[in-house]
Amino acid sequence: MRRVVVIGGGVTGAAIAYDLSLRGFRVTLLERGSAGSGTSGRTHGLLHSGCRYVADVEVARECYSENQILRRIAPYLFEKNGGLFVAITEDDLRYKEFFLEKCEEAGIPVREVSREEALRLEPNLNPQLKAAVVVPDGTFDPLKVILSFLASAKKYGADIRLYNEVRGFRVGGGEVKAVKVLDKVSLREYELEADFFVNATGAWANKVASLAGLHVPVKPSPGVMVALDGRIGNMVFNRLNKPGDGDIIVHHRGTSVIGTTSWVVSDPDEVTAPKEHVELLLRRGAEMAPIVSRMRVKAVYVSSRPLIGQAAQTGREISRSFAIIDHSSEGVSNFFSIIGGKFITARLMAEKMGDVVCEHAGVTAPSRTAELPLVPYWHFYG
Ligand SMILES: Cc1cc2nc3c(=O)[nH]c(=O)nc-3n(C[C@H](O)[C@H](O)[C@H](O)COP(=O)(O)OP(=O)(O)OC[C@H]3O[C@@H](n4cnc5c(N)ncnc54)[C@H](O)[C@@H]3O)c2cc1C
Repeated sequence: MRRVVVIGGGVTGAAIAYDLSLRGFRVTLLERGSAGSGTSGRTHGLLHSGCRYVADVEVARECYSENQILRRIAPYLFEKNGGLFVAITEDDLRYKEFFLEKCEEAGIPVREVSREEALRLEPNLNPQLKAAVVVPDGTFDPLKVILSFLASAKKYGADIRLYNEVRGFRVGGGEVKAVKVLDKVSLREYELEADFFVNATGAWANKVASLAGLHVPVKPSPGVMVALDGRIGNMVFNRLNKPGDGDIIVHHRGTSVIGTTSWVVSDPDEVTAPKEHVELLLRRGAEMAPIVSRMRVKAVYVSSRPLIGQAAQTGREISRSFAIIDHSSEGVSNFFSIIGGKFITARLMAEKMGDVVCEHAGVTAPSRTAELPLVPYWHFYG
């Protein structure tokens, strides 16, 4: 049986471990912290309908398709609350026709509703809103989704090693022979040999690849989120305009989360939330839902998107939303990195990564993750 080491226990690594285990590989997943302790545990938790990305119809279609697959394979993980895109200004209103046309082109079912209906659905929206469109958004608890992928991987034999940090690689003869690991619970250092290595460390992908002398063109791009002390709606609130700062409010249990901002850093381990970003989010959030200005802030958090830098265009480009880098071009034939994408496209990213590993290993088993039900998250600890 061919052995694969997957590095990174965010949603991407978890989904890859599942995909490859299902295809008959012996998988070990190494994560330096707890499950989802990187970016995946700190997202909005928005099951995108794809409408946010309609300017790129292919990406929008991809999101909507994954939205539907995830609801089918794990219906218990997603709140079927839907979302609303609302126009507040004349500028927002001008975006509406383009938005509706593109949603239709992407095949996403949306429905324009009157101001009165929007306010009946969500009384805390700005009563001056100029237009509203209902879309098939949803919400999820990121940790539960990650644990479901990990539980599913475990069911097919994967060895999931949390708190196991990759510290280096043994490279020779044009291959990575082994990964050097520190078990942070026992403080034991060890080496693990494998046939293939998959670097799914998101914003850290270049830091990890550089331990093997390789390069990943990832641009860590942090975003701030502000959690309010109280839930101000049920459906996801989106601003009807091109994606920008403070244009989403997602409700989870007893809180509503306003997001997000975006900038680029060189080291994802050195990121804090700037005070002015918090102020901007509260101001922009109050434009969509004036009640925001009267709410207490419960928490502020920040995490970094693993955005694709320019050079990735020369890598193995799988889709406009994510990239798989085959490091053969740098002289190492069994090491692959994956960056970009979104939380909700992790299953698809894993399928494409699995295809690449299978091609190198001469394995013909197809991906089955779109059909099989996910194992519920509580089995992870069983
Ligand atoms: C502010 C914000 C909001 C977002 N909201 C949404 C949303 O609502 N919906 C959506 O679909 N997407 C959202 N996204 C995008 C989504 O969160 C990311 O694309 C996704 O979580 C990336 O997952 P990942 O597994 O690739 O990376 P990560 O989750 O960062 O996983 C990488 C893992 O690698 C580990 N690691 C690093 N170095 C090592 C090492 N040396 N050894 C072992 N492990 C290591 C890290 O600890 C980490 O857990 C959002 C992103 C941001 C920034």
